[in-house]
Amino acid sequence: MSTREYRRKRNLEKSGEPAGASGRFGDAPVFVIQKHDASTLHYDFRLEVDGVLKSWAVPKGPSTDPREKRLAIQTEDHPLGYADFEGVIPKDQYGGGTVLIWDRGSYRNITEKEQGLCPPMRALEDGHLLVWLEGEKLAGGYALQRIDADKGHWLLIKMDDEQADARRNPVSTEPNSVATGRGLDEITRDTESGT
Ligand code: MN
Repeated sequence: MSTREYRRKRNLEKSGEPAGASGRFGDAPVFVIQKHDASTLHYDFRLEVDGVLKSWAVPKGPSTDPREKRLAIQTEDHPLGYADFEGVIPKDQYGGGTVLIWDRGSYRNITEKEQGLCPPMRALEDGHLLVWLEGEKLAGGYALQRIDADKGHWLLIKMDDEQADARRNPVSTEPNSVATGRGLDEITRDTESGT
């Protein structure tokens, strides 16, 4: 897997974003959800698969209600080190705007095929991946279901398990960073004042 497209789209010296993998995060693969206040606010859902972060932009953010199917638009693979990125991408750069680590943790692939567990890259190629998240805000099963391969449109859907909760709405009630506790405005201010 390559992050060539990621690098092609950006001037990393100017954007301040990670160039590649930094440290490892332990044995389990990681997921991260980054709230990104770019031209339109969205949530970037990223899963570590085969050494890169497979990525989707989720305009409304994830839901904990199995009846709420959230559009997820696949974007270019990001380097693993991006999971640690929180800060401000300058306005004149690709994806310019503030990035906040909204949730993160480890995950397990739970996609079953006739023969047993289906490798995650294979599941993505087939357009159907099931994961079990161990985040701070999100937990339990989530499905990624491809609905339009040409447009890269998928749906992100909470599975109906013990962690499903139609009354929770963490996107609005838990807006801040799980890494630093900061909100978007604070991150923007801290970056602009150089702290
Ligand atoms: Mn984004």
